[in-house]
Amino acid sequence: MPIDRRTVLGAAPLLLAGSGAGAAPAAAPAQEAGTIPGVYRYQLGEATVTALHEGTLARPLDATFIPNAPVEAVRAAMARAFMPPDRLDITFTTLLIEAGGHRILVDTGFADNGPPGTGGTLRGLAAAGIDRASIDTVVMSHFHLDHVLGLRLKDGSLTYPNAEVLVPTPEWAFWMDEGMAARAPERLRPNVQAVTRIFGPGGPRMTQYAWDKEIRPGLTALPAPGHTPGHTVFLLESGPGRLMLMSDVTNHPALFVRHPDWSAVFDMDADQARATRHRLLDRAAADRVQVAFYHAPFPATGHVARSGEGYELVPVQWGAPT
Ligand SMILES: [Zn+2]
Repeated sequence: MPIDRRTVLGAAPLLLAGSGAGAAPAAAPAQEAGTIPGVYRYQLGEATVTALHEGTLARPLDATFIPNAPVEAVRAAMARAFMPPDRLDITFTTLLIEAGGHRILVDTGFADNGPPGTGGTLRGLAAAGIDRASIDTVVMSHFHLDHVLGLRLKDGSLTYPNAEVLVPTPEWAFWMDEGMAARAPERLRPNVQAVTRIFGPGGPRMTQYAWDKEIRPGLTALPAPGHTPGHTVFLLESGPGRLMLMSDVTNHPALFVRHPDWSAVFDMDADQARATRHRLLDRAAADRVQVAFYHAPFPATGHVARSGEGYELVPVQWGAPT
């Protein structure tokens, strides 16, 4: 999901509204809830996966959010999922994979650059006893700000100083193209500027990766273009364990797993993203493989089952062996 001015500005009052502020003067501000570390660890063969709750951001839900669906149908889907009709709470979950002697973080969240209610990846790592300097690899799925901003702290230093940062070649080509800063439409400019700064002087050690290749032992990058030109998903395999990291193939599953034809305004090429969504949800359902979504409710992992015209995300049972 790209973060724009409207998202950020819209967040604070909506989060407060959601906390019931006004009714109970003593109620804790909603952003304090985001300061509690959310950490969920699961085993996948020999690999250990730690889901880190980066945070939650509220977005006004109006007719512009899903341009190709009637807003009444969207509100009905929200009601079906027991969510409010006019506000979507978008969550972010980063993943730390420990496998094959590597510590690999997949996407970074915001670190200390985001709005209130975010930044939980760093709190979660600390709570899990993981020194961020011990992370040797950071893998980026794509360059939207909610995924990439956390590569650097607000003071410009590297959040993961010893990590090699792996980025998809087509994503790099799109955002870092020489003429992009001048050519980019207005709404993409903040993203272009941020990415240019992050990977500019003093930036992380970066290596591009190609699709359909193992980028670390057991971790394969797979093409998922549409959300952005280089948007990537991953298959993690260890022994009998398999996990598909679905990145932003969908935003909130109650809307887009359930209704894969619906397109969130964040998808840069809506038709291509829709085709990608169908292909990968269908594969996940057919293979009965465990999945993880960046924007699913924490701990953002489960299985995909066919249901009606679409699919359902069936969450894992907390604490059950995998
Ligand atoms: Zn996103």
